[in-house]
Amino acid sequence: WDAQDSNAHEEKIFVAIRLRPLNEREIGKNDVSDWECINNTTVIFKNTFQERSMFPSAYTFDRVFGSDCPTRKVYEDAAKRFALSVLSGMNSTIFAYGQTSSGKTYTMSGITEYAVADIYDYIDKHPEREFVLKFSAMEIYNEVVKDLLTTDGTPLRLLDDPERGTVIDKLTEVTVRDSSHLIELLSICESQRQIGETTLNEMSSRSHQILRLIVESEAREYFGAENSSTLTASVNFVDLAGSERLSQTMSAGTRLKEGCHINRSLLTLGTVIRKLSKGRNAHIPYRDSKLTRILQNSLGGNAKTAIICTMSPAHSHLEQSRKTLLFASCAK
Ligand code: ADP
Ligand code: MG
Repeated sequence: WDAQDSNAHEEKIFVAIRLRPLNEREIGKNDVSDWECINNTTVIFKNTFQERSMFPSAYTFDRVFGSDCPTRKVYEDAAKRFALSVLSGMNSTIFAYGQTSSGKTYTMSGITEYAVADIYDYIDKHPEREFVLKFSAMEIYNEVVKDLLTTDGTPLRLLDDPERGTVIDKLTEVTVRDSSHLIELLSICESQRQIGETTLNEMSSRSHQILRLIVESEAREYFGAENSSTLTASVNFVDLAGSERLSQTMSAGTRLKEGCHINRSLLTLGTVIRKLSKGRNAHIPYRDSKLTRILQNSLGGNAKTAIICTMSPAHSHLEQSRKTLLFASCAK
């Protein structure tokens, strides 16, 4: 028996695909777009004459977004209700998954901004409750967890707390004053990550970034509230390492390249998500990686999870795009 079993997930994981436009470099090389969204839920491989019957040509998900779709729309349809569930005491996680340069950071930073605006809008409209928001941010690189709100780079330890589950020892948790304070904190995280990108080229493609917002709320007494319960929940915005890392991890011959290429967190996340999507009574190996341990209470169980898989439409990225679609199919 495993404690996780009683927590079997009740809601399916929401899976979306987002295509980015071809970029200038791709256009310059006369690259072509392979993929097209034919409606809100189906993406098709256009060039079937080229690669006939090598793999399915149509893929259906909860939602698909074409190259011309603005992030606002992606947010509204695939992230908003997950992010806002934190206001009613429900944990949630929103992931961006995809190969490097497919649009994960572009998508997730837009979504985070819109979510912050909506969360504060909700708070303003609900004076009968008192809200306290706490923000923290971390990065996982080679299974080492670091705080994105401090610059000392000390690895953080994960501890098991009998009541709260996995806690991240000494992680900075900032009590947020207002929405502009939160936006300021987000930009600190962004610049921390950009430093990583210029000094250590591969850093951002190999690391996972987790931005976590904890929302606590309580009825204010002078409203004579009926609902006096205190609610606490967290929403996690997760910008994953490039999924090409997963392919490298799983490919045969990894023994030769071990060490620098293995991304345990990404591999374990794939397993956890696949098992969650299969439903009840499976043993979910949350403990096998830092990422899944940190997110355990916000994945499966009573939590809400959305995965937005970003894809380059370019023919030169066909191999990785197919792998992304396979991952997404396993998560449904
Ligand atoms: P990743 O985080 O997956 O490595 P990025 O989010 O950094 O990829 O995106 C790579 C580049 O493509 C960036 O210059 C970004 O601005 C651009 N880009 C990504 N998605 C879109 C989109 N949907 N529309 C326009 N530009 C995009
Ligand atoms: Mg990125």
